[in-house]
Amino acid sequence: MPSSTYTPIESSTCSTKPKALESSQAQSLWREKCAVVGVYNAPNANVLAYYGLFAMQHRGQEASGIATSNTQKIAIYKKNGLVTQVFEPEILANLVGFSAIGHNRYSTAGEESINECQPIFARYSLGEIAIAHNGNLTNANTIRESLTKEGSIFQSYLDTEVLIHLIAKSQKSTLSERIIESICQIDGAFALVILSRTKMFAIRDPYGLRPLSLGIIENDDGTQGYIVASETSAFDLVGARFVRDVEPGEMLVFDKQATNPTYKSYRYKAPTPFPCVFEYVYFSRPDSVVFSRNVYEVRKNLGKQLAREHTLKADMVIPVPDSGVAAALGYAKESGIDFELGIIRNHYVGRTFIEPTQQARELKVKLKLNPIAGLIKDKDIIVIDDSVVRGTTSKQIIKILRQAGARKIYLLVSAPPTIAPCYYGVDTPEKEQLICASHSLKEVQSFIGADYLGFLSLEGLRKSIESSAPITQAQEKLSYCQACFDGCYVDSIHK
Ligand code: SF4
Repeated sequence: MPSSTYTPIESSTCSTKPKALESSQAQSLWREKCAVVGVYNAPNANVLAYYGLFAMQHRGQEASGIATSNTQKIAIYKKNGLVTQVFEPEILANLVGFSAIGHNRYSTAGEESINECQPIFARYSLGEIAIAHNGNLTNANTIRESLTKEGSIFQSYLDTEVLIHLIAKSQKSTLSERIIESICQIDGAFALVILSRTKMFAIRDPYGLRPLSLGIIENDDGTQGYIVASETSAFDLVGARFVRDVEPGEMLVFDKQATNPTYKSYRYKAPTPFPCVFEYVYFSRPDSVVFSRNVYEVRKNLGKQLAREHTLKADMVIPVPDSGVAAALGYAKESGIDFELGIIRNHYVGRTFIEPTQQARELKVKLKLNPIAGLIKDKDIIVIDDSVVRGTTSKQIIKILRQAGARKIYLLVSAPPTIAPCYYGVDTPEKEQLICASHSLKEVQSFIGADYLGFLSLEGLRKSIESSAPITQAQEKLSYCQACFDGCYVDSIHK
């Protein structure tokens, strides 16, 4: 049997927190892993934004919102709930306009008031503005403190609200200039869509930590519209054509007044690309193209690489559905061991990644996953999952598989051990709760009760991504943020 090791965070040579978060302000993290969408120059912008958000429901299930503009005024509606619950037909029909931005919110901390939902809307000296943000601003609290001292009043705990204040306070004469001046003051991760009455802006931070892609819409009247979204699965649903990613450090300005092209690109800061590798491992839908690569193909490669790194004998390979499916297929193909759907998922239960109490997490695993006892009884099984976070979910999965009669259970994870939290807009637990941050492989294996536990290596993760063909040449070779696996935050690397 192969051996498997990893380095808990204590041994990492990297900083364990981004510099800007070393103060007491760090408690307001763990807010958002969200979806944003923007539609420009489409007669049914409201409907396209709705379907875009619907396609990206997996990125945020707490609240949803859409703002539209008809060139004269911005209309907005947002509420807690799923996209289909928030937007009744008559509500969507009232959101008229040629442009729209939308947001799905995912949050575990902070208030649940309507003020925490996005888009955020404000009236200021140049008119009206709405902003939707995916990511986390690492210096938001510092900026907020200084704005508060100057007399600003905040309505929410959202870091995005500081951006509205910066834009409103700017002395620049145009909105484009004000936005650039403001985003040059913020640090961290941001994929932004901003709506004014006549324009739309799509912006990615210089690291490109969070994804944002550009697509083209062919309107029924023969004109062309544009869509930007966190994931290209949104394009597929509305019939849009993927063009390219919004680049790190780039701002696209969509302007109806302009003729050819109807959007312009501005490089507001030199790019230092460092996109989030976890998008491939877990977050994104497998049918999306993210950072220029097909997520399904990358995940299958993760499984193939896992088979090369952990050669085991077993009767079958079974995935923890849904995000372990592609990797399990890859493992089965590379190893020649049969793939079986040994665990069935109930899709009407939300994710368990962030449940607030241990008891609730354990119950939710049982509600969500059920093994096929007749299939796995007295069998040696390889179970493929995408991550071990607190260890509680893995422990429950092993437990229900044992109860169903599995003989040997080998748990393989299609990613390296999660040893550090994320500060860039992804909801992960505190470091103390990450079991791999402070326990050896043997200790984790013993805690979850598996007969074998193995993780993909960091090198294997990189190889798996690079062996997937890029859709565009621009991002063929990329360095990825993998801080949750190695503790090396972008702020430590790009000082
Ligand atoms: S720390 Fe992890 S989850 Fe956060 S941006 Fe980096 S790779 Fe993604």
